[in-house]
Amino acid sequence: MIDYHMHTYFSDGKNSHQEMLTSAAYKGLSEIGFSDHICLKPVGWATKLEAIPAMRNRIISIKEDESTPISVKFGAEVDYIPGLTKEIGALITSLPLDYCIGSVHFIDDWNFDTDITPYDGIDIDAFYNRYFALVEESAKSGLFDIIGHADLAKKFAYYPSFDLNPYYEHAAKVFKEADVVVEVNTSGRIKPCKEFYPSAQFVNALVKHRVPLTLGSDAHVEQNVGQFFADAINELRALGVKELVRFTNRKREFYRID
Ligand SMILES: [Zn+2]
Ligand SMILES: [Zn+2]
Repeated sequence: MIDYHMHTYFSDGKNSHQEMLTSAAYKGLSEIGFSDHICLKPVGWATKLEAIPAMRNRIISIKEDESTPISVKFGAEVDYIPGLTKEIGALITSLPLDYCIGSVHFIDDWNFDTDITPYDGIDIDAFYNRYFALVEESAKSGLFDIIGHADLAKKFAYYPSFDLNPYYEHAAKVFKEADVVVEVNTSGRIKPCKEFYPSAQFVNALVKHRVPLTLGSDAHVEQNVGQFFADAINELRALGVKELVRFTNRKREFYRID
């Protein structure tokens, strides 16, 4: 099992790289990728831009250390911000990444996955429309290898009045055409929405359109590394998924889960 989404104290995680790695090895994972936040908006939860070289050096030294018990990859979770795509692209290509997760955490200046106050006063239908448009745009930008938590809009369990299945269908087609991988992110289960990102129906649409998948816990503390992976793999097998994707130097390769 491979976990490609976790944070250390370089961004908003609570543990060091070594502690996350030790937890992963203890839980029997065969490979992990560190994916600390990189965000070109000034936020408290992302890696400070001046700390990025230290983060890079830390990961490279772990990768090169022969006593490292499992395979380690250098990933990043980078915010998609329309209007800053050039700058984001330059930053991504300046790092020796194995993969880059693109995530939408903002609608304009609203950080909708940390700031819950606006939800009661807004048009939730319009919010979902805007959210899905941004996620599709992030895929089409060509900046990212993996689309992070592709239905994060549901995090606080606010739902639109309309059926989301056509949105899943549309997004799955866009992802396939853009040739991106989508992550199954298990952290949603401990959030108010109480289910993985993307939902089972959304994963169904992705499988139908043959969009490749990765698996990530989005752990911010060591004990959550690989959280609910057995359940996630059972659900994916039930949907007919036989293989997931791993990355080296931003090149993908499939591994079997059946
Ligand atoms: Zn995220
Ligand atoms: Zn994350």
